[in-house]
Amino acid sequence: MKDGLSGQDVAQELRTAMFALPLTGAVFYIDAFTTIESAIAVLYVVALLLAAPVLSRVATIAAASICGVLAFLAFAIGHSDGLDFASSLRLVVSLAALSITCALILRNDAAHNQLIQANSALSESESRYRSIFEESRVALWERDYSLVREFLLSLKAAGVHDFRTHASANPHVMAEAVSRIRTIAANDAARELIGLPPGQQIPATLQSLLPTNMESMAEILDCIFRGGNRFEGKCTIVAYDGSEREVLLSLRFPDDPAAFRRVAVAMFDITHREKTHRALRDAQAELTNAARAATMGAMSASLAHELNQPLGALVVNAQTLVRWLDKNPPDLVAVRGSAERMIRDSQRASDIILNTRNFIKQKRRKFEEVSITDLVEETRALMDHELQRDSVQLTLEVEESLPTVYAVRIELQQVLINLISNGIHAVSGVPESDRLIQLSLGRKGSEALSLKVRDFGPGMSDDIKEKLFAPFFTTKPNGMGIGLSISRATMEGMGGSLTGMNATNGALFEMTIPLRATQ
Ligand code: ADP
Repeated sequence: MKDGLSGQDVAQELRTAMFALPLTGAVFYIDAFTTIESAIAVLYVVALLLAAPVLSRVATIAAASICGVLAFLAFAIGHSDGLDFASSLRLVVSLAALSITCALILRNDAAHNQLIQANSALSESESRYRSIFEESRVALWERDYSLVREFLLSLKAAGVHDFRTHASANPHVMAEAVSRIRTIAANDAARELIGLPPGQQIPATLQSLLPTNMESMAEILDCIFRGGNRFEGKCTIVAYDGSEREVLLSLRFPDDPAAFRRVAVAMFDITHREKTHRALRDAQAELTNAARAATMGAMSASLAHELNQPLGALVVNAQTLVRWLDKNPPDLVAVRGSAERMIRDSQRASDIILNTRNFIKQKRRKFEEVSITDLVEETRALMDHELQRDSVQLTLEVEESLPTVYAVRIELQQVLINLISNGIHAVSGVPESDRLIQLSLGRKGSEALSLKVRDFGPGMSDDIKEKLFAPFFTTKPNGMGIGLSISRATMEGMGGSLTGMNATNGALFEMTIPLRATQ
């Protein structure tokens, strides 16, 4: 039995084939036992054709062979008394007709089988496509873009070169184009994406799904207009409940214009991902603001701390100046000395502010070659008043022929002032004869200098040592607790370091100053 026949078809074909047997018998009888002088055996062809639909290829060949044998047999019976040319020719014609018919049936059969195979492959691929389409968790749509393509081509033919410009100048064009896109099918994920209630038909046109801003739709239309064959991008769609969903949209336009009738569109819901990204970006922005605010806060605290010393010195010098003026006659040489010290202190206060401002603005600070020996001498002069006030002696030991360092002078000076101020404070409680601060400057390896500030105060308890460089840690009633933390940050910022430890009788702080500070 042949493939590809339904039950009904088979019954019908069997009924028809039933006629083949009596017909074969009748043809044989007439051919063998009557004297009709014609190619009656040709009628075997009819019997073969009747039976062919229900016969396999082998059975067809067998049936054709049987008919051939019957034709021979009938010829032999009918011409037992001798052969004549006309009857022999009729036999040959009949056999030829049978052979040709059998060959045609077999060829038809092969074509039929091929057709069935092609059909089943087609329906298998169709059902595979359907099941992928239906069961995919990606929202898939089948859309007909043929009409919109025609519309866009007609615009092109009418002389439009740039669709985006044309569409923004003619707002109705977008709406008209969109109305020509038809939705043919949507899978469950797509229905879920737009929140379509079960049993409800998918909207045939897109208008209800598009937000007022049709930016991504304009890009898709532009892609078709330019003959592009793929579009991928983010876009927003409006769900049934009116909420907006952000989706990643991917579609590929076929090369064959006819296939524009069925374009698959895939959408990935990225609403949550985008929300998380936005939240992350907001959090980052907040964090940056908070960090900036914290930096500003620390900077203000640092400014207040750093300016304390020059402003204090200014006040002292101003008071001294007034005293020299009040003398009768006024001591103008001393007045001049005080005024010059006031200028120096104001200049330093201004340098501190400028450097801090440049630091905040991330501007280039002023790098220069600095002789640390000169810097230490200058700083000692700056702190002269405090040292004298508290009766503190400051000594300096310098290694021979030290190189200069390339750094921001004011930064190094501020660190040193902090350390000396702390030292003065530390020794203020010991007898005047022991109020000593020793500075020693020397090399540290080949790439740095070491500047040590050692005092003979009480030193630091384990608890203090632990928090020494922590911001806002202070044990002083009027302290701010930021001097050491800023100093360490300053030294580390230039590629150096600042350490603090106890020495025998007192504390020892060491600044490691790189020969070339990092900028
Ligand atoms: P502040 O001087 O405003 O307290 P610092 O950061 O300069 O802030 O110092 C933090 C703390 O470290 C001080 O309060 C003090 O307890 C301790 N400290 C700093 N230098 C010395 C020192 N030379 N000897 C003993 N303790 C010190």
